[in-house]
Amino acid sequence: MDMIEFECNICGQRNRVHQDQFGRETGSCSKCNSTVRMRSIVHLLSMELFGESLSLTEMEPDKSIVGMGMSDWEPYAKHLAKLFSYTNTYYDREPMVDITNPDPSLIGTLDFLISTDVFEHVAPPVNIAFENARKLLKPGGVFVFSVPFSLAEHTVEHFPELHEFTITKDRKNPVLINTTRDGRTQEFRDLVFHGGEGATLEMRIFNKHGLEEQLSNAGFAKPDYHTEPCWERGIYFPQQWSLPLVTRPQTVLSAT
Ligand SMILES: [Zn+2]
Repeated sequence: MDMIEFECNICGQRNRVHQDQFGRETGSCSKCNSTVRMRSIVHLLSMELFGESLSLTEMEPDKSIVGMGMSDWEPYAKHLAKLFSYTNTYYDREPMVDITNPDPSLIGTLDFLISTDVFEHVAPPVNIAFENARKLLKPGGVFVFSVPFSLAEHTVEHFPELHEFTITKDRKNPVLINTTRDGRTQEFRDLVFHGGEGATLEMRIFNKHGLEEQLSNAGFAKPDYHTEPCWERGIYFPQQWSLPLVTRPQTVLSAT
């Protein structure tokens, strides 16, 4: 009992895993080590594009579908690149896209944009990133998105006045030294870095309400969160925070 059989929607592997082993950030596929979050991102994309939860190995290639990833996980990014006109992009290497300042030629080009656990690392003010995400999408495009978010009352911005900054080391501990827009110097310790390819500084912890406000202010429709378990794909979030979501640019109703 409580053993879940699922087929990984990233590599196609059949797995048998105890329910307790599912975690947002815990690898649970015996072949590709995908996490619940990674399988959720692929599930949401599949539901949006095809109306059903297909694995990447089952999808029909369609190069007319244009997509972009922001530092997407390579095991699914490589499939997406074969299936669609998809480019995985990076903040610090080619192909490079800075979501706070994307190349104007990218505006309005995307059928889908994937950004999973990136926006908590974008330097403030983060609203620019949400606005650009919406601008990069075609009117009918879809934003497949996740960030860690809390159910607390407020978003916590760790460095609200971040302007020009460096991270140095004081004995063993990293210290962020910021010069504010009006020339004051600030020092921050107790920095939180998220592991992975090139540890990345946590700029904020969103709360759910603040996240929805950002999406709405940027012109996105109300988000659909991945709340329902999808057992056959091994996707189950026991908690109600940090859920992946999809949203689309809000449709502007024409007057005539
Ligand atoms: Zn897998």
